[in-house]
Amino acid sequence: MLLAEKGIQKSLLNAINQNKPLFQTNKKPNEMKELSIENKQEYLNEHYPFSEIPNLSDKNRCIHCYEIITVGDFKVFKGDSGFEFICCPNAPECDGTVIDWQPIK
Ligand SMILES: [Zn+2]
Repeated sequence: MLLAEKGIQKSLLNAINQNKPLFQTNKKPNEMKELSIENKQEYLNEHYPFSEIPNLSDKNRCIHCYEIITVGDFKVFKGDSGFEFICCPNAPECDGTVIDWQPIK
């Protein structure tokens, strides 16, 4: 297992421990409805699943499309259950969500 994968597992476990919803969906973003977010920093503050909330200007690597993305370019898609997924800026072509982002150092 890659070190990065261990990091993600740890983040997932933290999310479980904090009773936060898991960002797993078997639906592709293009089957969900995209929401337009007016204040993205505020949205992240309220919906980001992990404790360290990034800044909109932070750069991360999406491990689904392997592109370096700017956090503030995230998209939000709403599933049938009403749950809102923070998705890769390359959605719907990329099905990565916020848990698939790795900080780049
Ligand atoms: Zn992606």
